[in-house]
Amino acid sequence: MSPLSKIVIVGGGSAGWLAAAMLRQHLKAELCEIELIESAELGTIGIGESTVPPFVGLIQRLGIDEREFIRATDATYKLGIQFAGWHRRTDTYFHPFGVIGKPIDTHEFYQCWLKVRAAGDCSSLQDFSPCSVMAESGRFFPPTKARNTPIGGANYALHVDASLVARFLRQYAEARGLKRTEGRVTCVKQRESGFIKSVVLADGREIDGDFFIDCTGFKSLLIEQTLHSGFVDWSQFLPCDRAIAIKTEHDGPVQPYTKAIAQAAGWSWRIPLQHRLGQGYVYSSRFSSDADARSTLIRNIGSPCLEEPRLIPFQTGHRRHIWKQNCLSLGLAAGFIEPLEATAIHLIARGMEFFLRYFPDRNCDPSLVREYNRRMVADYEEIRDFVVLHYSATQRDDCAFWRWCKEMTLPDSLQERIELFAHNGALREGVDELFRSSSWQSVFEGMGIKPSTYSHRVDSLASEHIAASLRRARSAIRGMVEHLPTHEEFLKSQRGVSLD
Ligand SMILES: Cc1cc2nc3c(=O)[nH]c(=O)nc-3n(C[C@H](O)[C@H](O)[C@H](O)COP(=O)(O)OP(=O)(O)OC[C@H]3O[C@@H](n4cnc5c(N)ncnc54)[C@H](O)[C@@H]3O)c2cc1C
Repeated sequence: MSPLSKIVIVGGGSAGWLAAAMLRQHLKAELCEIELIESAELGTIGIGESTVPPFVGLIQRLGIDEREFIRATDATYKLGIQFAGWHRRTDTYFHPFGVIGKPIDTHEFYQCWLKVRAAGDCSSLQDFSPCSVMAESGRFFPPTKARNTPIGGANYALHVDASLVARFLRQYAEARGLKRTEGRVTCVKQRESGFIKSVVLADGREIDGDFFIDCTGFKSLLIEQTLHSGFVDWSQFLPCDRAIAIKTEHDGPVQPYTKAIAQAAGWSWRIPLQHRLGQGYVYSSRFSSDADARSTLIRNIGSPCLEEPRLIPFQTGHRRHIWKQNCLSLGLAAGFIEPLEATAIHLIARGMEFFLRYFPDRNCDPSLVREYNRRMVADYEEIRDFVVLHYSATQRDDCAFWRWCKEMTLPDSLQERIELFAHNGALREGVDELFRSSSWQSVFEGMGIKPSTYSHRVDSLASEHIAASLRRARSAIRGMVEHLPTHEEFLKSQRGVSLD
């Protein structure tokens, strides 16, 4: 046995600092030294403002006070994502967090709803999602403080300022004994075995380690430039490869959800923080020039800009070996799926959770590495399929980009999910997946994919009985939401100061 006595993290963006915070929380400082190298001169990508609900759990597990975190990172609450123009140009739908409906006499809610829909009931699926109803009326209250109420099954994530998150996590990790080194890595030295021995900084300092975590962003300095891990390219399913991002002033109330608006060659986002909006356009360079994308973004932003737009090229896919030898890659260094469902920070946290689960010694047993890579690739593929679904079922044929999406060949795993669902609403369950049934049902419904029938198991319930339950549930949610604070009022109560 030769336990790791020093781990070196290269890169101080969200990935580097989240890794540092999680390692410092889990490993005793006297047993394992952790050093993070970052270069102020190179900076970070400074983007990544929308999260998914497990992020809130992660903050709690790190022992961070949520209110303090919200204040420090300019955060707002997120109940889901509103999609405009994806199915048809004029359609809008909502992907909420949390549950949709409750089982009726042990029967799955969704199947009950399908049955009464088939009998002519015209209630919408989202009428039974506490998050959708709160989002629609711009209201928010934490479901954790309302467990046995009609909104108890809701869930939430946060919109955050990425640079402030990195700063917050840096303070957290440094307070727990992390060593931070300022410097630019110019050379990576390897042992005869191929394992990384040390990194050399521009000023000549050499930093040794037993294990290295590559958090150098798209550069992938260790995992790719040094260890040549290889890349699994998914541009045949997700053609967007560029983004233009900008910070603007608010142009209306601070809404508790992200907006994703379909555009001619991709989609634009609007993410509300307390004191500004994050906006941007994700597009495919096969279908739009940078100049056209920039004018589309500027035309749509609707409020004064706080900075010049920034162009960010990216490649969709993941490293063939996310962990190779004594190097783990995290964040953008490990891979990237366009930010439609805001999953990148989640994948960083998962990457660290699995690393702690399959924690190696200095030899990095290949069986641990293999299992880690298998598990992470399963997460990447699940998210890829969910994101591809948003494009593939479009009915739009008004521009070349959407026609391409309509005609693309889908990953087999997604094709199988769609066929199963289209039969009678059944879902293919994976292990510990990020997106659960209510997410798939919402996007299927929003994109016009409907089961041809319901599961006839629910025929043991009379339609009138189901319809009465649905009426009660709908009015209970609406009745409660009407009396909740607006999102802005709730934020104000958390901050203790005005948002003005
Ligand atoms: C358009 C866009 C929108 C996004 N939106 C979201 C979102 O809504 N939600 C979400 O979860 N994620 C989002 N992401 C992803 C998110 O931005 C990243 O996952 C997250 O910021 C982590 O980035 P990182 O730390 O891997 O890389 P970076 O922030 O690029 O950090 C890289 C670090 O490595 C350092 N470095 C690089 N080279 C060297 C060197 N030679 N020596 C020393 N240090 C070096 C840099 O200085 C920096 O500190 C988005 C990404 C893009 C491109």
